[in-house]
Amino acid sequence: MNLGLVARVDLRQAVILASGGGEVACRIRARLMDRAKRLRGALVAGDEVEWDTDEQGTAVVEEVLPRRNAFTRRAAGFPGREQVLAANLDEVVVVASLARPSLREGLLDRVAVAAEGAGLPLRIVLSKVDLATAEESARPADLYRAIGYPVHVVSALEGHGVAELYAGIRGRRSLVVGHSGVGKSTLLNAFEPSLGLRVGEVNAVTGRGRQTTAAAVLVRLADGTEVVDSPGFRAFAPWGLSREELFHTFRDLRGLAAGCRFRDCGHVAEPGCAVRAAVEAGRASRERYESYARLREELEQEGEA
Ligand code: GDP
Ligand code: ZN
Repeated sequence: MNLGLVARVDLRQAVILASGGGEVACRIRARLMDRAKRLRGALVAGDEVEWDTDEQGTAVVEEVLPRRNAFTRRAAGFPGREQVLAANLDEVVVVASLARPSLREGLLDRVAVAAEGAGLPLRIVLSKVDLATAEESARPADLYRAIGYPVHVVSALEGHGVAELYAGIRGRRSLVVGHSGVGKSTLLNAFEPSLGLRVGEVNAVTGRGRQTTAAAVLVRLADGTEVVDSPGFRAFAPWGLSREELFHTFRDLRGLAAGCRFRDCGHVAEPGCAVRAAVEAGRASRERYESYARLREELEQEGEA
């Protein structure tokens, strides 16, 4: 039996990076897809597998090794279902453009929640700084740095900040996520032009990009750095967190709960809530609090559905 790392998966086939070197296209044992479905999502980029060559000389994935972590989301369009984007990661990199399309901090908070929930470090990339004013980039950069996340302000077009970002992800396995059109492909191509990732056109009307990738793809760069590129999404919701866990993923807010009147305070409408008091007093970020409140509401709706 040989070991391999899943680079990408489609319906019937997985391309793996064999531990001995080289890419191998493998069939996937049907029982694995069945069992994987019953367990936790299907085979994904970053999965470690055992594979072998059968009597016909076809490479076959025989076994999926236990995952050390997985980054998941609520499956878009399938209430109550989880979608695993990638497994066995070192960190998550979220790319959000400062302009065209304009910055949506809610998305950063949502990805932060999912990363924290999966126990993964998060790195934030604010892209297209060449299209933004100094103030437009400084405000979100300061906010997320103060929370403790590394923030890179970059322009893939002008090369600004790209080397520093690359230094941050070098030698590790990073899942890169973001809305489509934020410049993720341009950025990854700036790391290694040979990647040849397709750069989409931003729709002149909506300011959003086309979706150019279908499933997450793991790419190993020349120096061993691994990047898992994921399809640009339209919406993102974390999956599988309780209300308490959700609140706990807000690093900047969670410490404030010690001052709440009720031990089981949900920080929404309860009297004596120290979290809301801190927001009102300007000692905590209103945007972050609103992200929490909205996600909590979604969680409750999901629970009722
Ligand atoms: P993706 O959907 O996130 O992969 O985005 P793409 O890499 O396909 O880029 C979408 C559009 O944004 C393309 O037209 C790029 O040329 C443009 N773009 C990417 N990076 C930058 C940047 O740093 N500055 C500016 N002004 N445009 C960029
Ligand atoms: Zn409270």
